[in-house]
Amino acid sequence: MRKVSSQQNLKFINQQKVLNLIYNQTPISRVEIAERTALTQQTVTNIVNRLMEDDLVVEGKPIAGAKGRNPIPLAINADKLYAIGIEVAIKYIRGKLIDFQKKVIAEFRIDDTGFENSEDTFECVRKVVYQLVKEVPKKGSLKGIGISLQALVDSKNGIVIYSPGLEMKDFPLVEKLKEEFDFPIYIENDVNLVAIIENEKGRLIDSENNIVLKLDHGIGGAIMNHKQIFVGASNVAGEFGHIKAFTGTNRYSCICGSAGCLTTLASASGLLRNKGLTLDEFSANVQAADSEANQDLNTIADAVGRALSNVVTFLNPDRVLLVGKVIEKLGDRFVPQVVQIVNETVLYSCKDVSIIHMIEPLDESMLAAELVIKKHFEIPLELLSL
Ligand SMILES: [Zn+2]
Repeated sequence: MRKVSSQQNLKFINQQKVLNLIYNQTPISRVEIAERTALTQQTVTNIVNRLMEDDLVVEGKPIAGAKGRNPIPLAINADKLYAIGIEVAIKYIRGKLIDFQKKVIAEFRIDDTGFENSEDTFECVRKVVYQLVKEVPKKGSLKGIGISLQALVDSKNGIVIYSPGLEMKDFPLVEKLKEEFDFPIYIENDVNLVAIIENEKGRLIDSENNIVLKLDHGIGGAIMNHKQIFVGASNVAGEFGHIKAFTGTNRYSCICGSAGCLTTLASASGLLRNKGLTLDEFSANVQAADSEANQDLNTIADAVGRALSNVVTFLNPDRVLLVGKVIEKLGDRFVPQVVQIVNETVLYSCKDVSIIHMIEPLDESMLAAELVIKKHFEIPLELLSL
């Protein structure tokens, strides 16, 4: 990371304060910005001039009828700024180029990836980035690349710590991409990314402490502590899928080396491995009132409910958001049972927790692009604590 003087830091922080206000409070005038930030009018004018020179901010028409001189509203030049978002899943990679109004400009995807090794995975990611960068309308207008990965990720240092499905281990993804693409690049674990964006603008906006659980090909979890992701000592906090939850004849061995983990049945890969059914097939059997499938779904709901009850008792979140393909297909069927088990078993003082689920498909390439937009307007925490 480049070293900067404290004066440069201050200049950057002030600029981000102004940019953040224009982004979140459009339309807003220079005078209002000065009032809200406690910066002098001259400082605000200087910053705004700089932002306009860089094509980040534009002036609108003066607001007629306002008090005093008609103030000129400022807005983000949203349809001239761009972000790329990429979803790296176990079986495909898809990417989008969007403008800051979230209009999709270009898309590119690679299916049936079948990654053989980390270089192979990297080559696929590189190809998708390359194809989308080519489509950026104007040089200098791409403000970053966001990447969502089904992997343990050290987002601060840009490293993919581990993903058996992506064949990656301690892989310096950001550094390798930077050799070719000179843009800000952010990587994030797929579930943490959902949590970050849903906390910023979505279903968790009015929640301070929450958990996001994704039941998908595998299972992952994210813990939000006062609006900050809790990553744990080695970036692996939130491994909901390996909570021991199944016993007796339902106790199958797990890829982690243990047995009875949630992911052995409550995920798409677990259903395929241990029941011989794809998620679509299992879901069709449930809908067709097949008794074995419904009994299995009951077992899964019971296990997820008890595991979640323990997690809620331990972490005391105010909200839990359930997402992922298993929830999309079967959530309406089994989430009510999960909620009932949690209500019956959770510690009295944690009873106010609300458990919600999302049946709309997640668009992680869009979320990854939104991460770029969020980063572009925020003041990095590490600068504020200097
Ligand atoms: Zn396991």
